[in-house]
Amino acid sequence: MDCTLHRHLLEAYLDGELGFERTLEVEAHLASCRVCSSEVQSWKDIRVAMQDSNLYHRAPVQLEEKLRARLSQENRSKRMPWFESWIWAGGGAAFATALLLISFVITRPAAPSPAQDIVTSHIRSLMADHLMDVVSTDQHTVKPWFDGKLDFAPPVQDFTSDGYPLAGGRLDYLENRKVAVLIYHRALHIINLYVWPAQDNGSSTVRAQTVQGYNIISWKKNGFEFRAVSDLNTAELRDFALLFTP
Ligand SMILES: [Zn+2]
Repeated sequence: MDCTLHRHLLEAYLDGELGFERTLEVEAHLASCRVCSSEVQSWKDIRVAMQDSNLYHRAPVQLEEKLRARLSQENRSKRMPWFESWIWAGGGAAFATALLLISFVITRPAAPSPAQDIVTSHIRSLMADHLMDVVSTDQHTVKPWFDGKLDFAPPVQDFTSDGYPLAGGRLDYLENRKVAVLIYHRALHIINLYVWPAQDNGSSTVRAQTVQGYNIISWKKNGFEFRAVSDLNTAELRDFALLFTP
């Protein structure tokens, strides 16, 4: 693939908006193309630099006082008519106020939350017709499919007898890392279960949250982080999570 085509993809790549295959394509190109890879690196550097807290300053209160003082001094020295000096003083005050307002308005850009990322990924998997890379209800087919594609072996279980049949799996990107996604069905609902290694071996209780109308159930078990996302109701999604954490 040539560079011109890749230029269009680079921004989407940096935003994590490409599907898995596209991401691999772009990464393969970046590995072989110095021009594109240095461009991506400079974009990454800019993003990191933009998050530096040193960039965000609140104008000190003394600044307004200084501006007022200087403006009124200049006004006096120019011996303007009283109405004109009032206009200038007003302008100065407005300028100082604008400065203060700008300093309040410029805040650190809000990074998308991990929960939002997962919901976005869930929606994308449903929209892009890229729900599954491996389609199988057999855990003995799905589990080995991940071999060599990830730096960990995700736990894969079928729960057909509990009403949550395994449908397949795919690879996805979340928070700059490759994760395993297991797809389960609950009647007509689709559950995307994201799995990746946890920081430690501990276990956690099951937590629920709702983002953009989608329910997310999170837990940690045997050194893995789990996030189940679905339009399924929280109660049934919790039951699903409890199959993993009896
Ligand atoms: Zn290139």
